[in-house]
Amino acid sequence: MRELYRKIPKVDRFLQDKELLELLDTKPKFFLKKAVDTVLSELREKISTGKVEEISYDALKERVKEELQILLKPKLHRVINATGVVLHTNLGRAPISSSVADHLKEVITGYSNLEYDLEKGKRGLRYRNLEWILKELTGAEDVCVVNNNAGAVLLVLSALAKGKEVVVSRGELIEIGGSFRIPDVMEQSGALLKEVGTTNKTHPWDYENAVNENTALLMKVHTSNYRVLGFTESVSTKELVEIGRKYGIPVYEDLGSGSFLDVTKLGLSYEPTVQDVLKSGVDVVSFSGDKLLGGAQAGIILGKRELLQKIKKHPLNRALRIDKMTLAVLEATLIYYLDESLALKEVPTWKLLSQKPEQVEFKAKELVRILEKEGFKGKVKIVKERSEVGGGALPLQTLPTYCVKVEVPGLSPSEIDRKLRSFYPPVVGRIKDDSFLLDMFTVFEREIPELAGHLLKLER
Ligand SMILES: *Cc1c(COP(=O)(O)O)cnc(C)c1O
Repeated sequence: MRELYRKIPKVDRFLQDKELLELLDTKPKFFLKKAVDTVLSELREKISTGKVEEISYDALKERVKEELQILLKPKLHRVINATGVVLHTNLGRAPISSSVADHLKEVITGYSNLEYDLEKGKRGLRYRNLEWILKELTGAEDVCVVNNNAGAVLLVLSALAKGKEVVVSRGELIEIGGSFRIPDVMEQSGALLKEVGTTNKTHPWDYENAVNENTALLMKVHTSNYRVLGFTESVSTKELVEIGRKYGIPVYEDLGSGSFLDVTKLGLSYEPTVQDVLKSGVDVVSFSGDKLLGGAQAGIILGKRELLQKIKKHPLNRALRIDKMTLAVLEATLIYYLDESLALKEVPTWKLLSQKPEQVEFKAKELVRILEKEGFKGKVKIVKERSEVGGGALPLQTLPTYCVKVEVPGLSPSEIDRKLRSFYPPVVGRIKDDSFLLDMFTVFEREIPELAGHLLKLER
């Protein structure tokens, strides 16, 4: 045993190995040291338990290579989304198109006019580059963009209602993922929540009765991840605007997802678009940049100039400001909405949502075709299913889809699931009724060969 310990190669031999150094490419040597450490302590462990008879540098080097390849992958990386949920918050919500990504790369790999007015040759405004397009698309008088919609809500309430009352229906006191709850955000902002109505019914007079000289805002919150069904009544944005006008109190709507396109065209039931909400006369509206808009994480605030000026001047606006990457992605994405047919083609979220069932079926068939050609020994079957939109958008609504049901001899559905998550790029599918399903709604055509390759590896 002592003999074997003596034969363990020196760490430096690995650290000077040209082939290993080449694998590092531009990455720090730290990763190579870590990989060598792992492999050598694994070896010592094996020697101590008498599992090693011979020591070969080349065999160890192969192990180091394997370890290094894993270590060199950034911890944040892509995955194949086979859940069917288009806006999956855990999987990064909206994917962006490669043309938008190309633009982003150009902006961030050099310098940009982020806060520089090229005409005047002096300091300019950060948001000017984005303002024009949002005004053009929505007719809003003014624009403010912050880190996310949760931040937008906090900022609007802080800037417009600190120390004053905000009237909200009890049917709209939402909680969304990540512990964002309207009453808590309200408290943080220093605004006082004035709840009106009941869980299932709120009437116009409920708002009217609540109004007093300390009321700063009437607020409507889009119930974006649930529905109150049955014996219900709520006050529409339009009615709320009428009440606001009557008493001279501004109306703010937290729209949540915020779509620019009409979802009824996809066979989904009506959801107000950003344009609809502004047209109905609300004074301020806010929504996310990476839900149905299909851009980057952001909270977009639109509305009347006078109120937006107050919002923009609030110190929280600076604390929540967005960076050039977000600005570049948002502007390049928003441009497509100037032509609806282009948005449906070029914004990945909408491209996915507007897929015809035949297109999804085609992807399922393509996966099955490759598997059969390569002699897959498991069983695959195409099944009709429904997919959710997700991302706190369009609750209870689903779109028709096709899934590939996968069975592999000797593996349970949860084992298939776990194995597919361990490959690179990992695949996240879903288990339903004790079957493992790959929902092809959210799988891109270019990913199908990779997905097939992973399934073929399952048998070994
Ligand atoms: C999603 C959502 C938010 C939070 O938006 P983020 O961009 O995720 O911070 C706030 N309000 C509503 C109604 C939402 O649906």
